[in-house]
Amino acid sequence: MLETAKVRKDAFIPKALALADIPVPFWLTEPSQLPKAMGTYVLVMQLAEDKTIVIGKLGVFNLRAGRYYYVGSAMGAGGLASRVGRHFRADPDKKLRWHVDYLRAEMTLVGCWVWQSATRLECAIAQQLNELANDKESLSCIAKVGSSDCRCPSHVFCSIDAI
Ligand SMILES: [Zn+2]
Repeated sequence: MLETAKVRKDAFIPKALALADIPVPFWLTEPSQLPKAMGTYVLVMQLAEDKTIVIGKLGVFNLRAGRYYYVGSAMGAGGLASRVGRHFRADPDKKLRWHVDYLRAEMTLVGCWVWQSATRLECAIAQQLNELANDKESLSCIAKVGSSDCRCPSHVFCSIDAI
């Protein structure tokens, strides 16, 4: 189990989750901190400047500079260490498999929020963030990105204020 010392409260996500019935996650910035357990995660990425990128079959997106949040889960063998560890690696030859890979290729990974849980929290967290994005101008959802396997409007969110 992770140590509570690794929890931080300085980012946008915990504020959003204070509204939800979801435990506060752990904030990790090093892949070596990742547990091998199953869990759900939010990648926190920074886009340094406005950029037009292609996200797989979804097409072209004009993204503004800012902070991006991707909600995913790691339920397979190797758990969070394997799945999130892959996101940490900035390998230019990495195969672009998921929508998030196209974002990751253009952005700096600042860290990630991690919930160590065998329960899949991914869509519940995305739902909270979608509701928050409806309420607040400071957060927007990037429609359909990362949510091709579920009914959520999106699993990717952008906050242009959090730079
Ligand atoms: Zn979903």
